[in-house]
Order: sequence, then structure tokens, then C-alpha cells
Amino acid sequence: MLIDSHCHFDFNVFDADRAAILARCEQLGISNIIVPGVTAKRWDNLLSLTQGSSQLHNALGLHPMFMAEHTAADISQLNDYVARFNPIAIGEIGLDFYLEHHDKASQTALFEQQLELAVKFNLPVILHVRKAHDAVIQLLKKHRVKGGIVHAFSGSEQHALLYIKLGFLLGIGGTITYDKATRVRRLFSQLPLTAIALETDAPDMPLQGQTGQRNSPESIVTILASLSALRPESTDLIAKTTTQNVSQLLALPSSLD
Ligand SMILES: [Zn+2]
Repeated sequence: MLIDSHCHFDFNVFDADRAAILARCEQLGISNIIVPGVTAKRWDNLLSLTQGSSQLHNALGLHPMFMAEHTAADISQLNDYVARFNPIAIGEIGLDFYLEHHDKASQTALFEQQLELAVKFNLPVILHVRKAHDAVIQLLKKHRVKGGIVHAFSGSEQHALLYIKLGFLLGIGGTITYDKATRVRRLFSQLPLTAIALETDAPDMPLQGQTGQRNSPESIVTILASLSALRPESTDLIAKTTTQNVSQLLALPSSLD
């Protein structure tokens, strides 16, 4: 059993063949797919997609790459929706200081408000962090959330260890399939297996050799194989442990059996 811990499966590019992809995922043993929220406008659509499915689970949050779309009312709506719809996490939230013309102050304010909601509802968080690990770690020390996943982690080993100490898993996706991604490949070959989560970030982050193509949650199988080639443990043990990591953190129903 495998989990895709980060997949934007609600995006329109999947509208035509979403059911077929889900059926193939089931055959491949991909039993759970986590679908994070990005903007308030899309939450209703996301909820209607995930609520009828035992395979799909939603997080709710306001993504730092879409600052122009967020409004002052979104945080109170988030508070409302979290209370009403019980998402498995607050996400996708974070800081993106890699973006051109980014506004550090407004991103930070929005992020802190969402961390506070995670504390209030005792939920983990799904983080998007680019060029901002020090700032994020500092804020996580201030707002003590119960943990979470740093999605598509590509920071330093030192950052990784600080996140682990704060109760976080580090997400690895298609990057691990790239021969030239030596730094990330070395890091994920050495991290404790209990700190790793598999993810695709589909439809983004295509695998090596698939540039320009739509990525799919089915890629989890290839990502697992690439990680396994770099590590001493068996593929089975890596699959089992990474699945357990995510299902325990997010309290997925299958982890409560
Ligand atoms: Zn994402």
C-alpha cells in the first residue's frame, strides 16, 4: 500500500480521466492520495471531490504562490470550513521567497494566521517552502503545531534535522528520479526512513524523461523505485514505512485499524 502525500488531483487537467487514473492507482496499490487546498475559491470543488471517496483526502489552506487571489475574508472562511469539514491537515501553506516580487510581510502574516488555526484545531500542516527554511523553522518554533510534511523538500541536511525535531516528515517526489539532482538524492539516501514521505505533486514535477507532460499520482511507484535504488532497505520496507509515516501523521482511517 502506497500513499501519494501531495497531489493536486482537483486541478482541471484531470477532469477528463480522473476516474480512470484512480482505478489504475488502486491496481498499483496507491490506496490514499492527499489533495491540498490552494485558494478559497477552489475549496468547494476540492471538498466535493474528496468527500465521496475513501481514496482521496483533503487538506484546506491558502497557498503562498497565490497571494493575489487571497482576500481578507479567507481566513475566517478557513476557520469555518475546518470546523465544518474536518480536513486531515491545514495546507498547502508556507513561505515562497523564490517568487519574483514576493511580499515577505504579507506571506508571513497569512502563514502565521494559518499556523494558529492548525494549533487551534490540533491539525498537522502541509508546507510549501522555497528559499525560506530559516524563517519557516523560526515560525514553527513560535507556533507549536503538532507536525506535518515539508512538501518537495530540497533544503540542507541541517534544515531537515530541524524539521524532524519539530515533528515533520520530508516529502520527496519526481526530483529523486533525476540523475543530476545529486544533492537531493544524497540527502534522501541518508535521512532516517521514518522521516520520509512520498509524493508526486501531480500535475506538476514530472519525472525524468517526462518534461512538459502532465504528472500523475501513478508516478509514486517510480519515485519509490528511485528512492529504493539509493537506500539499503528493501523496497517493501521503504513502501511500508513511508506509508506508515504519512498515515500516522495525518491519522488516516487505514492507520487506525
Ligand atoms: Zn502543491
